[in-house]
Amino acid sequence: MPLSNGDLGTSTAQLTPGTSALDFSTALNVLHDEEKDGIDAKTLLDSKVNGGLTYNDFLVLPGYIGFAASEVALDTPVTKRISLKTPLVSSPMDTVTEHSMAIHMALLGGLGVIHHNCSAEDQAEMVRKVKRFENGFILDPVVLSPKTTVSEAKQLKDKWGFGGFPVTENGTLRSKLVGMITTRDIQFHPNLSDPVTTVMSSDLVTAPDGTTLLEANDVLRKSKKGKLPIVDSSHNLISLLSRSDLMKNLHYPLASKLPHSKQLICAAAIGTRPEDKDRLRKLADAGLDIVILDSSQGNSIFQVEMIKHIKANHPDLDVIGGNVVTKSQAASLIAAGVDGLRIGMGSGSACITQEVMAVGRPQAASVFNVSSFAAKFGVPCIADGGIQNVGHIVKGLALGASTVMMGGLLAGTSESPGNYFVSQEGRLVKAYRGMGSIDAMEDKKAGAGDKDRKSGNAGTARYFSEGDRLLVAQGVSGSVLDRGSVTKFVPYLLAGLQHSLQDIGVKSLGELRQEVREGKVRFELRTVSAQAEGNVHGLHSFDKKLYS
Ligand code: GDP
Ligand code: 5GP
Repeated sequence: MPLSNGDLGTSTAQLTPGTSALDFSTALNVLHDEEKDGIDAKTLLDSKVNGGLTYNDFLVLPGYIGFAASEVALDTPVTKRISLKTPLVSSPMDTVTEHSMAIHMALLGGLGVIHHNCSAEDQAEMVRKVKRFENGFILDPVVLSPKTTVSEAKQLKDKWGFGGFPVTENGTLRSKLVGMITTRDIQFHPNLSDPVTTVMSSDLVTAPDGTTLLEANDVLRKSKKGKLPIVDSSHNLISLLSRSDLMKNLHYPLASKLPHSKQLICAAAIGTRPEDKDRLRKLADAGLDIVILDSSQGNSIFQVEMIKHIKANHPDLDVIGGNVVTKSQAASLIAAGVDGLRIGMGSGSACITQEVMAVGRPQAASVFNVSSFAAKFGVPCIADGGIQNVGHIVKGLALGASTVMMGGLLAGTSESPGNYFVSQEGRLVKAYRGMGSIDAMEDKKAGAGDKDRKSGNAGTARYFSEGDRLLVAQGVSGSVLDRGSVTKFVPYLLAGLQHSLQDIGVKSLGELRQEVREGKVRFELRTVSAQAEGNVHGLHSFDKKLYS
């Protein structure tokens, strides 16, 4: 006798052998014929039925685990020609990505996009720093002059936190190296007014410019020194290598590099005004690999013309267009020749575009619609904005994006620009502001007189409002909590992503995209109460520590 729902919870004595309708071993075959749980991505994201969804509105259903999470491969294209080993990109915002963030994102297998709210020269200098960063060579070391006193050296050690200083004839880089100071040289020296030349070592082990990391490692190992100055043929100081960094750099096997290149991949953003063509030339001269056209609404005659200009004049540079949220916006930019697209309008954490302009689209709907269209042309997409946790990264990628771009999530790390400060509530925070906030646009305007524009001293425009008499804000400025270093935070995001793909039952991001396309990976809508259930609930208090 089959059990009805009403029988559940009554005596188990009724569950006698032979009462189940089917043999267990047929379960998988039967499932084959049954309607599967959940819905496919296309049905889920049908905005005519479900409205415009965003990341919190759905979940991915679990699949079958037949492998370890560590086996999940995260390599993915960021443009038609360039692939990364991990899908994480930092946003071109002046509180998120300058050279330090770009270097560390690339070391960790992702990509940092250098912002353009600065002069073209400053932006090009940052690109140069990324391209010249060879896993641990300190390209702008603090250098002492022979006249520096022991007392001043001690003060510098307190200021910078390290005490290994090269001494050069002029006290600058690219001047003749005369000695090295270490913490131990100055620690107990009795006469603080003595010049550092009295305590420095002048019998130095150096390596010539062009030495590779591996070779330098070998020299350091044999010399047992803590620092290795790199010098040119005239013994001018070029850079410095620290033993402590070599140890750290052995830990960056995922570093983003082009095949046959020792340099990190570098991306930077520009606007679409005529003067941005000059800016781009300077960035390209500095070695830029990928340029992002930074517009909040990318489907414009300005962007189409800029894409054509770049394709004609910088054939080696990959261009990412955007931002777009609809197929027709994407179609214009694909037709103009983009190598990648950036998706999102109004979903960023510091953004008020949807409220003020009444234009935009919920991010899950944008990512799915644009990426499935762009996939037909082999154009990879970046899901930009609204990423608050690992789950959102997974969802952006499951809906077809190849990479995700983060602003607010990375702004609190030590590699973002600016200093930490203590908030009114006593928490350690860092400033984070939308590039369309009044603050950010006024900074652009401050240097935006005609003269400065021509000399490239001003930042360039993203919102087409920066040149107006009355600024209309599309973002806010605020702060975000301290997240420590990206060297810990990004590996946490990646490990979380691998565990999630393991739960879904796919071994790579490519497999995830394919199984979503084929309807094998299933989704389910999440009601408001399901969202509440999925968050911590019913606890008196708790500590939400995310990784250790
Ligand atoms: P030191 O022996 O006191 O110089 O310190 P360590 O070599 O143990 O650590 C210094 C850390 O600061 C390393 O991670 C360096 O990459 C970093 N650093 C950044 N800029 C400089 C610099 O100009 N000089 C030195 N010595 N280290 C720097
Ligand atoms: P987040 O990761 O903080 O959620 O979003 C970062 C993204 O927000 C950026 O990559 C950029 O696309 C977008 N964004 C940055 N500043 C502004 C702004 O002022 N207004 C709007 N609408 N979007 C912004």
